[in-house]
Amino acid sequence: MRYCILLWLLLSFSAFSQEPLVMDVSKIEATIEPMEDELRVLGTVKVTFSVTQVADSVALDAKNMTIENKALESMLVKATADKIWLYDQFQPNRTYTAFFTYSAQPKQTFYFGNNQMWTQGQGKYTSHWLPSVDAMNDKIEFDLSFWASKDKTVISNGSLVSVKEEKNRKLWKFDMKNPMSSYLVAAAIGNFKKQELSTSDRISIQLYYEPKDSLKVEPTYRYTKNIFEFMEDEIGVPYPWSNYKEVPIRDFLYAGMENTSATFFSEAFMIDSIGFIDRNYVNINAHELAHQWFGNLVTETEGTHHWLHEGFATFYALLAEKEIFGTDYYYWKLYNSAEQLKALSDEGKGERLTNSEASSLTFYEKGAWALHRLRELVGAIPFKEGVKNYLNRFAFQNVTTDDFLSEMSKVTDIDLSTWRANWLDQSAFPDEEAYQSLMNSPFMSQYFEIVSLRSVSFEDKKTQLQVALQSENDFIGQEAVYQLLNEPFTAVEPFFKLALQTNNTMIRQAVALSLQEVPESFRKDYESLLSDPSYLTQEAALFALWTNFPAERQKYLEQLKSTHGFQNKNVRQLWLALALYTKDIPDSDKTRYAEELQSYTAPEYSFEIREKAFEMLYNMGLITDQVLHNLINACTHHYWRFRDAARAMLGDFVTEEENQNRVLQLMNDLNEKEKSYLKRKYDW
Ligand SMILES: [Zn+2]
Repeated sequence: MRYCILLWLLLSFSAFSQEPLVMDVSKIEATIEPMEDELRVLGTVKVTFSVTQVADSVALDAKNMTIENKALESMLVKATADKIWLYDQFQPNRTYTAFFTYSAQPKQTFYFGNNQMWTQGQGKYTSHWLPSVDAMNDKIEFDLSFWASKDKTVISNGSLVSVKEEKNRKLWKFDMKNPMSSYLVAAAIGNFKKQELSTSDRISIQLYYEPKDSLKVEPTYRYTKNIFEFMEDEIGVPYPWSNYKEVPIRDFLYAGMENTSATFFSEAFMIDSIGFIDRNYVNINAHELAHQWFGNLVTETEGTHHWLHEGFATFYALLAEKEIFGTDYYYWKLYNSAEQLKALSDEGKGERLTNSEASSLTFYEKGAWALHRLRELVGAIPFKEGVKNYLNRFAFQNVTTDDFLSEMSKVTDIDLSTWRANWLDQSAFPDEEAYQSLMNSPFMSQYFEIVSLRSVSFEDKKTQLQVALQSENDFIGQEAVYQLLNEPFTAVEPFFKLALQTNNTMIRQAVALSLQEVPESFRKDYESLLSDPSYLTQEAALFALWTNFPAERQKYLEQLKSTHGFQNKNVRQLWLALALYTKDIPDSDKTRYAEELQSYTAPEYSFEIREKAFEMLYNMGLITDQVLHNLINACTHHYWRFRDAARAMLGDFVTEEENQNRVLQLMNDLNEKEKSYLKRKYDW
């Protein structure tokens, strides 16, 4: 059983209203040439479509594109700010094709990273780089080809049918057999290698990685095959696409994205075996895979039904985790989301699941809760039957909440209207019903008993806490540790020692993360945390020991001198910062350490590494000209969260005039984008 907190990054999700489409696109074949130096995309596209009514013009969504050229016999093609228009005397019941070459300078959706090029369609519109249909209710077969330099690998939707070499480049041709919505189109181009798994029904699973991460492949992708086979079995409908690819993306905008047959996920999930304990990819892995059915095979008609994507993906990921980490873990996660949903609801901010503007918490977690309750209500077997019928009936089509419920009501005699009123149509969170459901878990009722001791005096709960610490259950043991914190240390010291003696990594971690002051009598025990198989524990323990026992600093640093930690180098960066403040470390070494920390601010590193380095260096006042240049560069980054933090830091830095002058002196070395930011913001 493992405790991990997943931050669901808020997806900027736009709701489309369901408008009748005049143009019905059936196929888009395109050859794409990304032009890295110019940050442009050149494409040749063939669009096959029909119309639902007589029309003399139809339009594809296409943002700021230029028509470069079109085949002579093709129809008249014209680009406007956000469309490409096709002109002819269109009649229903006929099939048309348009063929043209375009170029685009994508402001979003297609990203030219430092060593990877990649796309993010959902919430960002594929029409920024490929003429397509923004609305979700036109399902299109996409057959895409990409030019890339010879040393690069291309990953896109569907099966790779050929790779043709021509001089210094290669053309990668992909084929899809079935249609999907345009937001699911994807491509990643980079220095990727892959490992292949094959499942019991011979679907090939391709696990991509960069060569630098070859040792992280096993822990990162651990349980992938189990998850895949579990999902097919639990959902009851075979995986609907020709293969399944998973690709780690540097500086990705979200935790993961379920592009059809090609899930992209944040490189921050590339971890080693120790990283697995705190920050594994299992939940995201299962969530994005579940979307291949819920979202990709059946797709919402509009945002009102978004829970049919996120609620289902979250719920099925939870079921997969139950399979891997056990039933207690399943209930623990339900409990945690119930706490958040109840808090929101108590503030009067609860949201209906069918509100197209709802937050991620509602779509994901309330959606999963609604399904958990529905499954309890109708029973696991009818539930599975209903879901299976729903997927089969609406395969490769668009769906509404009513479509799902009508299939579900065919497999049960239970009236679903109360469930619907409580879970879908009401904005409040039905917390009493939820907590009653949680009490079905013996672990949860045991946990609530321990929680109820919070208000009991230490003297009166000693025995129970002792038992709890030895329960070997992560969450019960952690709760017992938290209850020790407000007591005088001498009174609870034996209990802290007991907690460390459990050898349970998560109970020990609770000690590392919560105890700020470590008395001398507890030092020996506490030092053992430095070698725990958890980078969170190691980071916290190193800091606490270094702070509490100045005489031993070098010894502690020596112990973790070759540890890097998570992908963001959490342990390494803390180590470097502490070493710079450690007496007796020679100045020559300190110079090297400062340089190493400063180098982590460079654009060649992921934003997760850079933001940590900036923060440390800024707090230590170690902003060299190179770091300052890197900080200005970060102000132009495509990831808004990182960019905003960098802008705030720079804004703070230049409040001093002397620092302003330093920026001005760098002006000549800056690129256009960096200069234009400073000009826009500061008029320099
Ligand atoms: Zn999702």
